[in-house]
Order: sequence, then structure tokens, then C-alpha cells
Amino acid sequence: MNEVFAWREAPIADFAVIGHPIKHSLSPKMHTAAFIALGLEASYVAVEVLPGEVSEALDALRIKGYRGINVTVPHKEEAFLWCEETTSISQRLRVCNTIDLASRRGTNTDAEGFSRSLADYPFSSKKALVLGAGGSTRAILSALEAEGWDVSLWNRTQSKAASLLERFGSKAMLVDQPDLADNDLIVNTTSASLSGDRLPVNWSKANPDALAYDLAYGPSLTPFLSDASSFGLAVMDGRRMLMEQGAAAFEFWWNREAPREEMMAALQ
Ligand code: NDP
Repeated sequence: MNEVFAWREAPIADFAVIGHPIKHSLSPKMHTAAFIALGLEASYVAVEVLPGEVSEALDALRIKGYRGINVTVPHKEEAFLWCEETTSISQRLRVCNTIDLASRRGTNTDAEGFSRSLADYPFSSKKALVLGAGGSTRAILSALEAEGWDVSLWNRTQSKAASLLERFGSKAMLVDQPDLADNDLIVNTTSASLSGDRLPVNWSKANPDALAYDLAYGPSLTPFLSDASSFGLAVMDGRRMLMEQGAAAFEFWWNREAPREEMMAALQ
């Protein structure tokens, strides 16, 4: 668990992740491992910021000399509004998870992180079912659509999924039941795993060659992945995506290749 600083008492450092809560974030460990691997003299800390205080906190950290910030739940939209310049992916998703403080330039590396986490996976075709309609779902839809996937979207509260599709101009098909049949990839973007809840999916209908992917991760398989695995499906949790979004953030700040192996090792 991280030592957590309130933003008003943040120490002199180079990088930080801001969020609420923030004590469980693995970003300090992962980025510190990257700095050590490349012999970079830089520090990375966890800073607690309450909703509504993001703009003030980013101004204060900038004045303190911080170079870069990662932003996690629930601040990615407020961070986007603070930035003076944003990348096209960030504008499309209307959220920022990575900021260069001096230039007030922001980007979002979640979609890239998700895509890269699957780059080497041998899918035979590109049909995906995405479950959820929360903050992370936009990045996943955007990544899949950019790579030509045929996507269906299910959410417990269907109206939220409908408004997400409309707001982001997504072509994904809204479904009222999470039907697993024929899908090559089933992605859980809900936070159900965090509370140990199960989604209403019938794994016996799944294509046995499909990959079950949960954005969540923990010391053992999430309930979603544990069920998928018991039906013989291949499974992947959110750690590789976390590493890849962090590597993309590292590259945004340092303009050099991130040490992915060491960053991944820090998450095990
Ligand atoms: P949000 O809180 O924005 O999303 C909540 C979503 O989960 C909604 O669609 C909600 O449905 C659904 N949900 C919550 N509980 C249940 C339940 N019991 N049954 C069914 N649906 C449920 O979360 P985020 O999008 O920010 O994060 C989602 C998950 O992804 C988290 O586990 C997070 O840790 C992980 N994550 C991982 C990343 C990585 O790099 N690996 C990056 C970002 C997120 P409804 O609309 O009906 O309320």
C-alpha cells in the first residue's frame, strides 16, 4: 500500500498519481521500477485529491515543480477540463489520465493500453461483447472500434449504455442480454468484480476459443475470470492493460521507450 499525501501537503517530487481513493494504486510501484531500470533520477508519489479540487491541486503540484501526473478514478474528466492542450484520443473520450504539467498537455493512454495488451493474442475473428457502461468502457469501445472489431454492448442499466453510445458516436450494438455465443472476446469493464459480484452471463454458451478479459485484477482470479476459466476459456486480467497504459504515459513524459518487462514485474 502507498504512503498517501494530501495534495496540500504533497512533498517535492517529480511525478504523481492523483485519485480518490489512491492508497491501493500500483502506479507508484510500477513507475518507480521503470525509473530504477533506466537509471533515471525521478520520484513518483500517490496524492489524494477530493472531487471538485482537481484543478486547484494540479495548479499547486505544477507550482511545486511536478513534471507529470497520472489521473485515476474519479478525476479523469476534471483533469481533461484543466488541460490547455489535449491529444485527439483524449478529446474523443473527453478524459485525461496523463498530463505534462509544464505545458498543461494531456492525453489518455487507456485505449492504447488495452489495445497493446491484446496485440499478440491470436484471435481468429473480431467479434466482441463488452459488459458495462462506466468510465473505462469508452476507452475499450474506442480501442476495439479503431481496430475493426464488431462490438456488442451490454450494461445492467441499459439506458446508461444507450447514452454512452450516443454521446461518443459509437457504432457498437446495444443488447439487452449478455449473450456470449459467437464472441471471440468478452470484456468485463464493470466494477462488479471489485465487490465480488457476478454478472448474469451464461458461460456454457461461450465460444470455447474465446478470451475472457476483466479490466479488474487482484491477488487471485476475479469471480468473472474464475467462472470463465471453469468453462475452459482463456482469461486475462487488467494488469497488462495497467502496465501498457503506464508505459504509454512514461513515453509521453520521457519521449523514450518504457521498460515494459520491469514495469510488468513490479505488478506481480
Ligand atoms: P465505473 O464505476 O465507472 O463503472 C461502473 C460500471 O460497472 C457500470 O456499468 C455499472 O453498471 C457496473 N456495475 C457495477 N457493479 C455492478 C454489478 N454488481 N453488476 C453489474 N454491473 C455492475 O468503473 P470504471 O469504468 O472506472 O472501472 C471499471 C473496472 O475497470 C474497475 O474494476 C477498475 O478497477 C477497472 N479498470 C482497470 C484499468 C486497467 O488499467 N486495468 C483501467 C480502468 C479501470 P450500472 O450502470 O448499471 O450501475
